[in-house]
Amino acid sequence: MQFKNIIGQEGIKTRLIDTVKSGRISHAQMFLGKGVNGKFALAVAYAQYINCPNRSETDSCGYCSSCKKYAAMSHPDLFFSFPVNASKKGVKEEDGDSMGDIRNNPAKSAKSKDLVSTMFTRYWLSYLNEKNYYPDLPSWYSKINIDNQQGNINVAEARRIIKDLAYKPVEANYKVLILWQPEKLKYQASNLLLKFFEEPPARTLIILVADEKDQLLPTIQSRFQTINIPKITDSSLKDHLNIKFPAVTENTINDIIKLANGDLSKAYALTNDRGKLDEHFTMFTSWMRSCVKTGSLEEIKAFVENISRIGRENQKDFLNYALRLLRESLLSNYGHPSIQRLTKDEAAFLVRFHPFVHINNRLMIEKIDKAIFEVGRNANPTILFMNLSLDISQLIKMKA
Ligand SMILES: [Zn+2]
Repeated sequence: MQFKNIIGQEGIKTRLIDTVKSGRISHAQMFLGKGVNGKFALAVAYAQYINCPNRSETDSCGYCSSCKKYAAMSHPDLFFSFPVNASKKGVKEEDGDSMGDIRNNPAKSAKSKDLVSTMFTRYWLSYLNEKNYYPDLPSWYSKINIDNQQGNINVAEARRIIKDLAYKPVEANYKVLILWQPEKLKYQASNLLLKFFEEPPARTLIILVADEKDQLLPTIQSRFQTINIPKITDSSLKDHLNIKFPAVTENTINDIIKLANGDLSKAYALTNDRGKLDEHFTMFTSWMRSCVKTGSLEEIKAFVENISRIGRENQKDFLNYALRLLRESLLSNYGHPSIQRLTKDEAAFLVRFHPFVHINNRLMIEKIDKAIFEVGRNANPTILFMNLSLDISQLIKMKA
């Protein structure tokens, strides 16, 4: 990974390069920032830059032996750690791969407490390639087939890290450990790593790549120099999406950028799922119109019939969408328009709709929240959406 392949983040790149130029590379750094903003890719590009003997003022060379090994993720002095867990179903087999062999299937052959991330290296490397070094937890969990569980970094993994990094670098200037999602460190694993983080072996660089500093033990936080990685700017994201999705129109890209809020994973999901967004918008506006009108029971019935057919996951998505627009309406009523992230159509709709959502009927928002929970618990959709619609019809007519 070279800096030139990272979307935006020019300020951070310069700052990282400056640490190398001035010889002030802190041995324990935390790349901190919410969402899929490129912090992981930056950590890899930084490590590659530090170890490239032909680096320029702005980037690693990309062709020396070190860079080639970095590109193949096969450098003997580059280590990763990341959350894993056992999968009851086993990890999916991949084409042309013998992952069906139980001995090669870490998730089946080991107990959770014995799992270490190196057992998952082949999945991890193919995952990073798929994601172009922009990982996110849900899709990683899906990759190792543990969608409904959490991954973690356990004591066995902490021991593995200490052992693997105990030696001098084989060929690089710096051995590098990139630990993704330290929030998932088990308490005892954190404690075991404290001393290692404080006094790592010589010529060792440790980079934590984290979303939420607050979820780390204060003793860990204090040992790392924090580099705050901001979200991707709208203009950088726009340039990237324009190149990546040449068929998507300017207007749509603009809408996606507003909703993605600097998160690459969201931007991709929205681009791939643009149709769904339009459907939700149409459904929401007609639903709200029939709730506002009096004597529109037939329209409400039609809505209920419609939504009962789309499946639970889509129902949840729709309700989350409705929740967002109702919250945005409430916000604009109380003069916080700057936090709004709306598409053009949504903004136009909300201009007329927002007066209907106010502090006296904010119970609507709670009702939808509760409905999301109930959909997850397999409630009967016809009854659930009928009751919800009737509740909203009543609430929405309340005076501000
Ligand atoms: Zn190089």
